[in-house]
Amino acid sequence: MQAAQLKHYTGGRSVEGGSGRYGDVFNPATGEIIARVPFASAQEIDATVAAAKKAFESWSETPPARRARIMFRFLELLNKNAEKLGEIVSREHGKVKTDAEGEVQRGIEIVEFATGIPSFIKGEYSDSVGTGVDSYSLRQPLGVVAGITPFNFPAMVPLWMFPIAITCGNTFILKPSERDPSAAMFLAELLEEAGLPEGVFNIVHGDKEAVDALLHHDDVKAISFVGSTPIAEYIYTTGTKHGKRVQALGGAKNHMIVMPDADMEQATDALMGAAYGSAGERCMAVSVAVAVGDDVADTLIGKMKPRIESLKIGPAETDADMGPLITAQHRDKVKAYIDTGTKEGAKLVVDGRDIKVPGCEGGFFMGGCLFDNVTPEMTIYREEIFGPVLCLVRAKTYADAVRLIHGHEYANGTAIFTRDGGTARAFARDIEVGMVGINVPIPVPVATHSFGGWKRSLFGDQHMHGMEGVRFYTKLKTVTARWPEGPAQGADFHFPQNK
Ligand code: NAD
Repeated sequence: MQAAQLKHYTGGRSVEGGSGRYGDVFNPATGEIIARVPFASAQEIDATVAAAKKAFESWSETPPARRARIMFRFLELLNKNAEKLGEIVSREHGKVKTDAEGEVQRGIEIVEFATGIPSFIKGEYSDSVGTGVDSYSLRQPLGVVAGITPFNFPAMVPLWMFPIAITCGNTFILKPSERDPSAAMFLAELLEEAGLPEGVFNIVHGDKEAVDALLHHDDVKAISFVGSTPIAEYIYTTGTKHGKRVQALGGAKNHMIVMPDADMEQATDALMGAAYGSAGERCMAVSVAVAVGDDVADTLIGKMKPRIESLKIGPAETDADMGPLITAQHRDKVKAYIDTGTKEGAKLVVDGRDIKVPGCEGGFFMGGCLFDNVTPEMTIYREEIFGPVLCLVRAKTYADAVRLIHGHEYANGTAIFTRDGGTARAFARDIEVGMVGINVPIPVPVATHSFGGWKRSLFGDQHMHGMEGVRFYTKLKTVTARWPEGPAQGADFHFPQNK
C-alpha cells in the first residue's frame, strides 16, 4: 500500500510540507508505514502564526454565542463521525476499538462543555463601588495560542484544548504527535464543515524544530502541552522565559492502594483494566499496585496471574483486550525495563515479552508483564515505563503506602480500594496527588471538572479543561467607570478610596 502524504492545515487550506523533512507514521499492528508526515520549518510556523493572528482580528470580535453555535455544529458532526474518528485513532495508535471509542467520547464531552462558554466568560458587575462609580470585570481572549500533544490520545488531548480556546475567542495552532497525526486532520475537516472561519484552527506537523519556533514566537501568547516530563519541563521553562502563559502536563507513575478490607474481585478487575488497557500507554494507567499486607499481595497475584497470561492481544478490529505499542523502538524500550527490573531483584511473575500475534508478525506487540517485590529504589519503580507492565509493591500499613506515594516525583493520579469510608476520606484529603480515585482506578475528571497532576506531572498553574481551561485561555480585565455630571472638581492627589 502506498503511504499517504499528509499536509499541514494553515489558514483554512491544506498546505504541502516545504522543509523537505518528513517522519514515518506506522500501522503499529503490522509494522507497515502508512503515511509520511511533513516536519514544519520555522518559516512555515511563521506563516501559520501570521494566518492565525489575522483570523484573531475578526474571531475575537465575533459574539461568544455565535462562536458557540459553531461548536454546536462541530458537536453534531463529531457525534455523527465518532466511529470513523475512532477508526483513524486505532489505525495509527493501535488501541482497540472500544478504547478508541471511549477516547473519542471523552473528547466529545469537552465540546459539549465548550458550547456553554458564553455563560462562563460573562464576567461580574458591581454597582456603586464608590459614589457614582461602577465596576465590572470581563474575560478576554489571549490571541494566538498553541497546543502540542502526545501520541497516546491523538483525538482526546487536542479536544481538551482547542474547543475551549476557540470558543473563548482565541485562534489555535495544533502541533499533534508526529506518530499519529491523522485524527487531528480529521478534526480540522469537521471544524471546517461546521463553518469555522479560516485561520481560527490550524495544524502544523513536526518535531522539536516546529515546537521551538512556536515557543520563541512573539505572537504566540500561550502554550498548552501534554507529553513526557522532560519535554513538559522544557516547554514550561522556555515558554515562560519568552513571556507566554504555559500549562505543561507531564508523565506519571500512578499508584493504586489495595487495603485489606477491599473487595478483592473488584480490585483485581480494576487493576487489570487500568494496568493493561491501551497496553499501559495512558498517563492515568495504574503502573504500581500497592498491596497493604502480604495476604493482599498474594491474593492479588493469585487472581491476576492467570488473567494476565490469558489477555487477548491483537489488532484493533478484533475483540482483543489490548493492541500493540506505538513503535518498535518504544516496545524495545519497554522490554529493556523488564531486563532491568529482573536484574535489580524484582520478581517477574508474568513475562509477556515473547508473545506472538498470528498474522501480525511485523507488529509492535508485547504481552502483559507483572513484577512482585518491587522496591522504591528500583528503576522500574522510579521511571515511567508506559507499557503493559504492572509493579506490585508490598507495604506493611496504610501509612507506609501513603509515604511511598509522597516519595515519588510524579503525582498525576492515584486510587485507593477500600470499604472503609474513614480511610477513603483521609486518603482523598491528605494525598499529594492531583487526581484521586476512591474505588475508581482511572479517575480522569469529566469535562466540567479539570484535569491535572501535581509535582513533576504538571508545570504551570492551571489544570486543563473545565473552568481551569476557561481561565487559562482568557485574561481578566476589570473596568472602573464613572459618568460625572457638573463642573470639574479639580485634581485629586490622594489614592482613590471609598469614603
Ligand atoms: P513526548 O513528550 O515524546 O511528545 C509530546 C509532544 O512533544 C509531541 O508532540 C512531540 O512531537 C513533542 N516533542 C517531543 N520531543 C520534543 C523536544 N525535544 N522538543 C520539543 N517538542 C518535543 O510524549 P509522547 O511519547 O508523545 O507521549 C507519552 C507521554 O505523555 C507519557 O510520558 C505520558 O505520561 C504523557 N502524557 C501525559 C498526560 C497528562 O495529562 N499528564 C496525558 C497523556 C500523555
